[in-house]
Formats: sequence, C-alpha cells, structure tokens
Amino acid sequence: MQLLKESILSRGRVVGKDILKVDEFLNHQLDIKLLNEIGKEFKKKFNGKEINKILTIEASGIAIASIAAQYFDVPVVFAKKVDSKNLDKDTYETEVYSFTKARNYTVRVSKKFLNKEDNILILDDFLANGRASLGLIDLVNQSGARVSGIGIVIEKGFQEGGSIIRSKGITLESLAIIKEFKNGVPIFK
Ligand code: 5GP
Repeated sequence: MQLLKESILSRGRVVGKDILKVDEFLNHQLDIKLLNEIGKEFKKKFNGKEINKILTIEASGIAIASIAAQYFDVPVVFAKKVDSKNLDKDTYETEVYSFTKARNYTVRVSKKFLNKEDNILILDDFLANGRASLGLIDLVNQSGARVSGIGIVIEKGFQEGGSIIRSKGITLESLAIIKEFKNGVPIFK
C-alpha cells in the first residue's frame, strides 16, 4: 500500500536493529485519513471472505480495527491485556509473549463475544514473531469460531511470524512488508 509505505519512510523511525517506531501516525498519534485508507485496503484484500466480526488486541489494534470495521459493517472485539473487576469471569484466555515489552502476559476475551457461529478477521498493527496473532488464533479456536484471515498493517518480514502463520494455511494479508532495515531505513519487500 503506497500511502502507508510513504508514511513509514517519512514519519517512521528505526530503533535499534529490529523496532520500527510509528507513533506519529499509528501507535500514539493517529492519522485518521491514513487509517481510513488502511480500512478500505483491508476490505479490498478480504473481499468475498465470510467475516462477521473483527478481533484485535489492545491497545494499538483498537483504532485500526475500529476504522476498518466501518467498511466491513461488523463489530470489533478486542482482547484485553489487563484484568479488571469489570471483565466477566467467564473468559477465553491465552498467554502471549510481548515482543516490545519482553515479557509474557495473559490476554482475555469474554465468552459472550466469541462463539462457534463466528467468522473472524484478526487485525493488528505489527507482525514480528507472531506471538500476538497466535494468541488471538488460540482464542478463536477455543470458542469454536473460524479464522477467516489475518490482516496486518506492517509485517517485519525478517522475523518469523509471517512464515509461521502462512504455514498454518491461514490467509495473511500485510499492507507493508519490510524485508530489512538498512542503515536505519526500512526496505520493503
Ligand atoms: P509479535 O507478537 O508478532 O512478535 O509482535 C507483534 C506485536 O508486538 C504487535 O502487536 C506490536 O504491538 C508489537 N510490535 C512488534 N514489533 C514492533 C515494532 O517494530 N514496532 C512497534 N511499534 N510495535 C511492534
């Protein structure tokens, strides 16, 4: 997706050897025009797939999923990373290792919001080693629902997530795939 690639090049920043910071438009400040184009692009990529719900993970997935959901005309459910008194006790739970925080955490979805009739599109901001996506797939599997596909805004193609997900036969569409960082500049596949 050209507009996304241009935004990554002009407003993203490579940190260390494997992190791309995009808080100018995706992870902190949100560029709503760009998010709308991302939503339309996901709709095009998954056209014809049976999808009645979008599942994402807090926090950064929520804005992406919410704007995309308007083009799919379906509700959004987000997996919660923080337990709270407000959360139903009856939840599907899974363990996810956070790439950016370098620790495990439990993510939960109330059983009310995932069920066996559902055809789920999973959306997230980044795909690195695939732990977040695999956790969401696990939640969907526990509920008996089906994964119709996974849509990722930025895939870091030099990490293993993409090949793990594709080897499971799941449709994975990434709007920008970075093959490497060269002298601090993202190079797209
Ligand atoms: P994975 O679970 O695929 O290893 O990592 C994906 C999750 O980690 C995403 O939900 C995202 O929040 C975070 N993440 C992984 N790599 C990056 C990165 O390079 N930049 C940012 N901003 N987040 C990342």
